[in-house]
Amino acid sequence: MSETEHVVCPHCAGVNRVPSTAKAAAAKCGVCGEKLFSGHPADVDGAMFERQVERSTIPVLVDVWAPWCGPCRSMAPSYEAAAKELEPHVRVIKLNSDNEQQIAGRMGIRGIPSLLLFQGGREIGRSSGAMSTRQIVEWTRARLSSRPS
Ligand SMILES: [Zn+2]
Repeated sequence: MSETEHVVCPHCAGVNRVPSTAKAAAAKCGVCGEKLFSGHPADVDGAMFERQVERSTIPVLVDVWAPWCGPCRSMAPSYEAAAKELEPHVRVIKLNSDNEQQIAGRMGIRGIPSLLLFQGGREIGRSSGAMSTRQIVEWTRARLSSRPS
């Protein structure tokens, strides 16, 4: 596992090449100097969401949520904790579907919260409904391990 990965900066959208995900936890963006991973889900807009999905070689996990959604709010701390476990092997982001209704519509989001997992620009998993930290981490890892690397 020493291949170069492409990691998209959640601050400036710069694409960074990192030698391995093991070293990515402390890596800083070559463009803006911010850390590439903060251990928190990055709150992204539509443009950043598409950039992350299209340009990252690491898997991208997105929580589609909305401020008025009670289950979304109650899952937020679990998602936060899951980000700490999954980064830097997985980019963990959240997309406010109220602000990005076009994208949510295009993805066919019917209920929130919805978790979507992407790899290489393609959706490889989707789950609706709130989950615990353990469920989020295990759901993500199960989808990634069932794929040839
Ligand atoms: Zn940056």
